[in-house]
Amino acid sequence: MTILNASHLKKYYGKDESLVRALDDVNVSVENGQFVAIIGTSGSGKSTLLNMLGGLDVPTSGGVQIENNRIEKMSEEQLTVFRRKRIGFIFQNYNLIPYLTVYENIVLPVRLDGKREDKKFLLEIVHFLELDGKLSNYPSHLSGGQQQRAAIARALVSKPAIILADEPTGNLDSLTSDKVIALLKMTSEKFNQTIVMITHNPEIAQKADVRIRIEDGKIHV
Ligand code: ADP
Ligand code: MG
Repeated sequence: MTILNASHLKKYYGKDESLVRALDDVNVSVENGQFVAIIGTSGSGKSTLLNMLGGLDVPTSGGVQIENNRIEKMSEEQLTVFRRKRIGFIFQNYNLIPYLTVYENIVLPVRLDGKREDKKFLLEIVHFLELDGKLSNYPSHLSGGQQQRAAIARALVSKPAIILADEPTGNLDSLTSDKVIALLKMTSEKFNQTIVMITHNPEIAQKADVRIRIEDGKIHV
């Protein structure tokens, strides 16, 4: 079953001489439970594509469907709620909230959704990511790698249907990267989650079920 579909997606920035075709008629279809890697050189349109797939930005034309929802038909408010319930985002620059502790950051999406976190599951993830002693710390007191692991825990704890990750291992050493990928695969199998992950690391891309290559805003098979 297809969980995520993008059809004839275009995203243009600027105009006239400065027009950038960041996405130029991109079609992507992701099956439920698949682990998809998006690969391509810097500036090829990877982040733009991921942002469109997660409804973080509006395409110039074309559409994205997640489960039975047309992203472009939703209001900003509907989209915010939908993202919180169904999508876990992991960004390269972590996006942790500086005035919240690691624990508060991790539970934020669940709490905003009006739910209580599954504490046993949370502690399992935290332990796997070796953040046990860090839960009451503020992000600024963590190393870059620890902050990224906290951001990953935050994305996983609500058990979202889809995880969208933009270079999640970009700032991690290779051992930690391998652990993070192993955790993503483990939880995605356990909770039947779909992962779409940008990476420029070929070894990591090899661990995905499918690789999508993007060059100059176009998909290359
Ligand atoms: P990647 O993630 O593969 O490095 P991006 O999706 O970030 O690539 O960018 C694709 C192209 O779109 C690049 O040429 C980039 O400069 C351009 N671009 C991305 N975001 C913007 C923006 N907000 N305004 C103008 N141009 C942008
Ligand atoms: Mg990028």
